[in-house]
Amino acid sequence: MDISTSIGRLSQSGRDFIARRHKLLIDGQWVDAKSGKTFAVFDPSNGQQIAQVAEGGAQDVDAAVAAARRAFEAGPWPKMSPVERGKMVWRLGDVLEANADQLAELEALDNGKPVTDARAIDIPFGCELLRYMGGWSTKITGQSIPISAPGDWHAYSIREPVGVVGQIVPWNFPLLMAVWKIAPALAAGCTIVLKPAEQTPLTAIRLGELIQQAGFPPGVVNIITGDGSAGAAIAAHPDVDKVAFTGSTEVGRLIVQAAAGNLKKVSLELGGKSPAIVFPDADLSVAIPGTASGIFFNMGQCCTAGSRLFVHERIFDKMMTGLSDEAAKLKIGPGLDPETRIGPLVSDEQFQRVTGYLESGRQQGAEVVTGGKRHGNEGYFVEPTVLAKTNPTMKVVQEEIFGPVVCAMPYNDDDLERIAKQANQTEYGLAASIWTRDIGIAHKLAKKLKAGSVWINVHNFNDVALPFGGFKQSGWGREMGYEAIELYTETKGVAALL
Ligand code: NAP
Ligand code: MG
Repeated sequence: MDISTSIGRLSQSGRDFIARRHKLLIDGQWVDAKSGKTFAVFDPSNGQQIAQVAEGGAQDVDAAVAAARRAFEAGPWPKMSPVERGKMVWRLGDVLEANADQLAELEALDNGKPVTDARAIDIPFGCELLRYMGGWSTKITGQSIPISAPGDWHAYSIREPVGVVGQIVPWNFPLLMAVWKIAPALAAGCTIVLKPAEQTPLTAIRLGELIQQAGFPPGVVNIITGDGSAGAAIAAHPDVDKVAFTGSTEVGRLIVQAAAGNLKKVSLELGGKSPAIVFPDADLSVAIPGTASGIFFNMGQCCTAGSRLFVHERIFDKMMTGLSDEAAKLKIGPGLDPETRIGPLVSDEQFQRVTGYLESGRQQGAEVVTGGKRHGNEGYFVEPTVLAKTNPTMKVVQEEIFGPVVCAMPYNDDDLERIAKQANQTEYGLAASIWTRDIGIAHKLAKKLKAGSVWINVHNFNDVALPFGGFKQSGWGREMGYEAIELYTETKGVAALL
């Protein structure tokens, strides 16, 4: 294997991890895929191969589901008290934190994201989420229910873990997405088969080792690396009680179809084309860097990226100049360089997709205000890009690009109804941001936007306690907060005639 310059930047512990033989975690054992197959993992900053990982398939999924079923029905996990379970989830947060530097560098290498962001955002958010969800273990309660039928009754509801859950996650926040999924499921007492994206399996594998270190019993979390066919096997599996997915709307639809066989529960966190709406009274010293980071953070590979920018015509030119200046400040380079603000896109496929959209935007008449090209001649770097003279008939305005590309559109309206209509004019409904000093306008418009998250004078804001998810074709269900616990529990009504 070629030892790339990126691997040379890793700490010794990072290099040791990369050099290992990467296997599947099934029933507490690290095993090769039954087929013996492996697949290659690449460094997106230079296209070099960095690791080989076991390629799990349907047979491995069967074994993982059987292990998760055994762990759910018997063994120490279902006997654990809520306090013990909560402490274990919390402990995993501590174990993650103790390994934060190594996890951040592996994430930067595998995904391409700036290591500084991984260290400041992805990893700490994951740790806090585990602690927050661990806290819910002791607070999953039912109610006592008054019964109207004649006689003496004692009736109550209880919430029970839904069972074996399949969790399929994408490559944009590989570790954080895995933690988003497992934290509430574990807190609720479920057992898990987790599939990371084939582009970025490394931190999920490391997470598996840390799960063992935190003391989770065998089979509680099983990890199957592999491609979409492993995900499809999970989604279709008759002994999986629930599937939770984050990724494209297209694959979300396939998950729903596959889940129909045993009518497993489904939650989906899908794509977006989120608007950022800037009013003429906005504080531009906040709105310019805020909307810039709303689209350029994580190279635009965020489901909530503020990719449609509606700016009042009075401040349009100032905003364009401001955004161009912000873009120029962002140092482009490999994720592992601590100075890097913009890393490569995750893969060649994603690079082709994003540059294809840039081409389509140009062809359909968009004006490139800044960026618009590949950066350098190796790796999958794309310049932070602002497109103007865009309109809703263009593909770049309607479709999720998932790259550092924002479509700016001026408006000259005061009518909130019409502004909301424009902002809502997409099949998605994940997030939206509003930039104004007028608190009345902000909250009136917030009501009219069809989006699961509405942010005021901030974009891409998440909190462990704040429900998150999509309206329309952006998904089903809400993660974060108590809503996430609801996704992983079933309610039972018990009535006794005394
Ligand atoms: P994707 O195909 O939706 O992948 C997400 C996850 O689903 C991955 O783990 C993937 O596995 C798995 N998967 C693929 N086909 C499956 C199937 N038939 N059944 C079950 N699981 C399946 O996303 P992508 O192809 O990597 O990216 C395409 C576009 O999706 C992006 O350009 C972006 O627009 C959008 N996307 C959105 C999000 C988000 O957070 N909402 C995240 C990523 C991508 P493999 O990766 O191993 O094939
Ligand atoms: Mg795919």
